[in-house]
Amino acid sequence: MESADKTRVPAGGSLAVDRERFSELVTRSIEMNTNIKIIREEVVELPDKEPTIIATGPLTSEGLIKNLVKLIGEKRLYFYDAIAPIVKADSIDMNIAFKASRYEDKGDGDYINCPMNKEQYYNFIKAIEEAEKIEPRDFEDVVSFERCKPIEDLIKRGPLTLAFGPMKPKGLIDPKTGNEPFAVVQLRQDNIRGDLYNMVGFQTRLKWPEQERIFRMIPGLEKVEFYRYGSLHRNTFINAPALLNETLQLKNAPHIFIAGQLTGVEGYLESTAMGLLSGIFTSIWMKRGKIIPPPKTTAIGSLLYYITHADPKNFQPMSINFGLFPPINMKGNKKERRKAIAKRALTDIKKWYEMILKIFSED
Ligand SMILES: Cc1cc2nc3c(=O)[nH]c(=O)nc-3n(C[C@H](O)[C@H](O)[C@H](O)COP(=O)(O)OP(=O)(O)OC[C@H]3O[C@@H](n4cnc5c(N)ncnc54)[C@H](O)[C@@H]3O)c2cc1C
Repeated sequence: MESADKTRVPAGGSLAVDRERFSELVTRSIEMNTNIKIIREEVVELPDKEPTIIATGPLTSEGLIKNLVKLIGEKRLYFYDAIAPIVKADSIDMNIAFKASRYEDKGDGDYINCPMNKEQYYNFIKAIEEAEKIEPRDFEDVVSFERCKPIEDLIKRGPLTLAFGPMKPKGLIDPKTGNEPFAVVQLRQDNIRGDLYNMVGFQTRLKWPEQERIFRMIPGLEKVEFYRYGSLHRNTFINAPALLNETLQLKNAPHIFIAGQLTGVEGYLESTAMGLLSGIFTSIWMKRGKIIPPPKTTAIGSLLYYITHADPKNFQPMSINFGLFPPINMKGNKKERRKAIAKRALTDIKKWYEMILKIFSED
């Protein structure tokens, strides 16, 4: 969180980071930790007995995957996610696009918004429907985590899906008309310098020339220059509910702990959280202590519970969200209930943490 705070970029109520600088800072803090010895090489073999944490992430190397599969059988999954294009800020026509956040109390016009009227929207959807796409291979068809669904897959559900999804205009008033447009494409600052913007929710596997042609139909992006095109990327993760117990240990090889995105969580924070837990769990296990996972009422505990108890037949990567917490028994609106859930989580994580500290102080 410290590294994220130091490298954050404006994004309304959300925490977004400059990825390069965030990554550099995290690496530096690991290098500076005298308890960590870094050996920079590929690990392929899995030890028979030695306690080990595997945290090799969405791009786990082939060699290790082969050995991991020997251990976990055919239950491993290969999986692909789509990513959104990034464009150069100075190529956006700000005479058409306007700066605003959906909820003005959360950020001061952090997003660049490209407004569309009804006719422009339907023409745009038609162009995406007819565009050339990179066809998924069989195994990619199993895709995809809802948040990363390519736009061309979303619009198969109906032409208005984007207008109610990533292109929803709610709360965005075009200063030129004083009204909400029919639909809006939002762009979020992608780096600290502020010269790159990410097209929010526009994950795609359209062919690159098609991305240029079609995204330049968006008002304000007629002459846009692309820094990175949208594409498919690999995301390897294991079927955690089938393979892991609630202590992040492989059921059939308890000396192996899994951490990070490989567990089936998604995102920096969630991956780090599973890394933190696996570190704590491994230490307790090596002390021959009883591992007690954090309670389900905490963010970290609810995510851990989800990945280890979800339906293994339909397991999909998960980010932290309020839907994972057990409901709270109180009257009040959504904001008040969420506040109470957060308060309960903070109280419960403190108790759990104190218990963990006690285990470690018993040495
Ligand atoms: C383009 C892109 C943009 C993203 N943007 C965001 C974002 O804005 N916000 C967000 O929350 N998340 C974002 N993510 C997701 C985020 O990067 C991951 O959730 C997170 O990095 C996963 O952490 P991890 O430690 O599990 O894996 P990683 O960060 O991938 O670390 C695993 C490491 O293990 C190494 N490795 C792999 N195999 C071996 C082996 N056999 N031996 C030794 N080392 C090995 C890898 O090279 C890598 O360095 C993004 C991901 C991508 C691809």
